[in-house]
Amino acid sequence: MKNKYNITLKIDRYDPDNKRSWVQTYELEAGRILRFTDVFREINNEIDPSLAWNSSCVHAQCGTCAVRVNGKPLLACELLVENAVAHFGTTVFEVAPITVAPVIRDLIVDFEQAYERVTKVKPYIIEPAQNPNPGNEYQIDPRDLDRYVDATRCVNCFCCADACISSEKGFLGPNAVMASIVRLMDPRENSKDERLELLYSEEGVYRCHSSMACSFVCPKEIDVAHFIALAKAGKFKSEPKT
Ligand code: SF4
Ligand code: SF4
Repeated sequence: MKNKYNITLKIDRYDPDNKRSWVQTYELEAGRILRFTDVFREINNEIDPSLAWNSSCVHAQCGTCAVRVNGKPLLACELLVENAVAHFGTTVFEVAPITVAPVIRDLIVDFEQAYERVTKVKPYIIEPAQNPNPGNEYQIDPRDLDRYVDATRCVNCFCCADACISSEKGFLGPNAVMASIVRLMDPRENSKDERLELLYSEEGVYRCHSSMACSFVCPKEIDVAHFIALAKAGKFKSEPKT
C-alpha cells in the first residue's frame, strides 16, 4: 500500500465577477488518508488560495461539502485519497459542483436555493397530534420509529437530488419528498392531507422513474428510493388520520 499518491485534480472553476468558467488542473502529492476536503485545503495553502469550496463540520454531518467527483455526487469530507483511487481506478479526478442549484463560485452552489424544495414540503410537524400521555414527552412506538428512523440520518447534502434524473423536470427531488414522507409516517403529525396533496401533485412522487440512483449515491446509506416507492404504491393515501 502506498503512503502517498501523485494525484491530478481537474476542477471546474467559475469567477462570478467576470462571468468566466474554466477547468483548472492541479497536480500534487497527497497522503493516502487525506480527505478531499484536506486536499482542497492543501491546494489553498500550497498552490492556489483562490479556489473556493464549501465545508463546515468535515464529519459528514452537515452536507455542505457535496461535490461531483468523476461524475459521482459525494461528500468531499468522506472521500479518502486511497479510496478515491481504488473506487475510480485512477489518480485523475474531475471535480465539479453539484447541479441542484446555481454555482456561486467554483465548487460553491447556492444552497439556499436548493433548500427551497425542502422548505416547500415543510419538513417539520405542521399540526401536532394529541399526545396519548399528556404532560410527558411524546413516546413513539419503536415499531413506528423503525419504519422511518433511517431517513432521519439525512443531512440534506442533495447528492441524491444531483443524481436524480427527474430532479430538473419539476420534481421536488428525492430528499425533499422523503422528508415529507417521514412526517407522514410520524405519529406526531396530524396534518396528513396537506402533505398528500403535494406528494401526489405534478411535482410529486410520480415524477420518480425508480432508477434508485438516489439510494446508490446517498452518503448516509439511506434507501431513499424505498420511501418514494412506498408513496408511489399509494401507501399513505389510505392511512387513517391519527
Ligand atoms: S437522502 Fe442521503 S443523499 Fe439525499 S440529501 Fe439526504 S443524506 Fe444526502
Ligand atoms: S429512484 Fe426516483 S427519486 Fe431516486 S434517483 Fe431515481 S428517479 Fe430520482
